[in-house]
Amino acid sequence: MQVKFKKYELFFHHPFTISKGTKTHQPTFIIELEYFGVKGYGEAPAISYYNITVEKMIADLERKKQFVEKFAFSDPERYWHYLHHLFPVNPFLVCALDMAGWDLYGKLKGKQLRNLWGLDSSKSPITDYTIGIDTIENMVVKMKEKPWPIYKIKVGVDNDVEMVAELRKHTDAVFRVDANAGWTLEQAQDKIPQLKKMGVEMVEQPLAKDNWEGMKVLFAESPLPLFADESCVAEADVEKCYGHFHGINIKFTKCSGITPARRMIEQARTLNMKVMIGCMNESSIGTAAIAQLAPLADFIDMDGPLLLAEDIATGVTFDNGRICYNDLPGLGIATKPF
Ligand code: MG
Repeated sequence: MQVKFKKYELFFHHPFTISKGTKTHQPTFIIELEYFGVKGYGEAPAISYYNITVEKMIADLERKKQFVEKFAFSDPERYWHYLHHLFPVNPFLVCALDMAGWDLYGKLKGKQLRNLWGLDSSKSPITDYTIGIDTIENMVVKMKEKPWPIYKIKVGVDNDVEMVAELRKHTDAVFRVDANAGWTLEQAQDKIPQLKKMGVEMVEQPLAKDNWEGMKVLFAESPLPLFADESCVAEADVEKCYGHFHGINIKFTKCSGITPARRMIEQARTLNMKVMIGCMNESSIGTAAIAQLAPLADFIDMDGPLLLAEDIATGVTFDNGRICYNDLPGLGIATKPF
């Protein structure tokens, strides 16, 4: 197996602001695995909140590249276990390699992953489109330039209820909100009932990631379903979220790939919890991976390619929020080889 990698800096159409800060571009790390002439691709964007940079992914990979290349690839699950032990503290790097392994596997089998997994893609939920925090006027402009059936609105600032109220005047679309850990318990108790009246369907990460006591109180009284994002990073967190959240937002990059994400979905279902599959502003490479698993989710947030002004692959398109699947094997993408 041959491993190659590249760093990209993909610019956003608009500076992207959430309760933790603003960014103008998304650094991302792309892997190419080549096995008997077949090439698989995987991605992991760098997210400063999780303290993993593209440079860190490159340094860790360079140090152990020969071991990654030496592996006798037969199936992605065995490969993930091997990678997980090679890079135990770099889930982002493991994600990029795992995703490339799955793309390669699908291509070797000549099938798209959703077909290999036996999933019914007519069950895939409609994806939302994210409106980042801005002046209320700018948020209205951004929403109007992208007519969409579901908007995910970033909240977690003082005037956020006003923001949502103003947006509501301009559309009947479904709203969901993401506070990115920006509220106190008292603020959440005050704001969530008001948001419900405005047709908001769910709330992502209302409180700080380790405020389990607060979440217990909020879970018992919230009129809207609560989803864990920052509180649910890896497999071990799923169980912790039970009794504190109604659902979890699974992201390949934070949990270390498609392989553990599939197990997390299964575990969430066993605990009778809802499943969202979310993104970290991946290009069409990482976003295509979400599309493959989407039939298993209740909610989908895969708008990276819509928010980014540049892309590095094709294959991800939507019809009014609904995923348009193609027949390309693996992830279902076409990209330029390295
Ligand atoms: Mg989130």
